[in-house]
Amino acid sequence: MIPGLEPVPLRELQALGSARDWVFVGQLDELPSLTPVRGSIQAEHRGNILEVSGSAQTIVCLCCDRCLNQFNRKLSTDANELIWLGDSEAAEAMAEEGLDVSAINGLVECLDPRGSFEPERWVFEQLSLQMPAVNFCGDGCPGMPQLANQEQPASQTQAADPRWEALLNLRLDPGEESEVGCD
Ligand SMILES: [Zn+2]
Repeated sequence: MIPGLEPVPLRELQALGSARDWVFVGQLDELPSLTPVRGSIQAEHRGNILEVSGSAQTIVCLCCDRCLNQFNRKLSTDANELIWLGDSEAAEAMAEEGLDVSAINGLVECLDPRGSFEPERWVFEQLSLQMPAVNFCGDGCPGMPQLANQEQPASQTQAADPRWEALLNLRLDPGEESEVGCD
């Protein structure tokens, strides 16, 4: 929970008559990060629409899908969103009245005007959108370590040195394990 980002009733924002600002630092419960999430949000109630804009930054630790090493990735968002206050049918009605909903970039979300705006949820959603679909540590990725180690010795040892096979047999035999030991 980020301190100060508690849900705020939309009616409260409406009564304010101007934009409300949040400046925040903290950890998101649903998005663990190495550094605290820092940013700011501004929300303004404009009748049928809530205009929200904000930015946030943090650094997350991800696991590379290829080499399985952990790497750090900076997440940064700078977003501006219009949220329709009403149900989706009302949004359709608005469209019928000649207001082109699709022309307003980003007007895809609806909120119940009697409900609340959740600034923390908004920050979480914006940062989640910045998460990579595929975790890849970068151009220096060493690739899959286990496969690389297995492929080369397998073909070489079998052909070049049959003694390896004897060692392998010893290792696989549980009865011989104590005698082979560590000496
Ligand atoms: Zn990697």
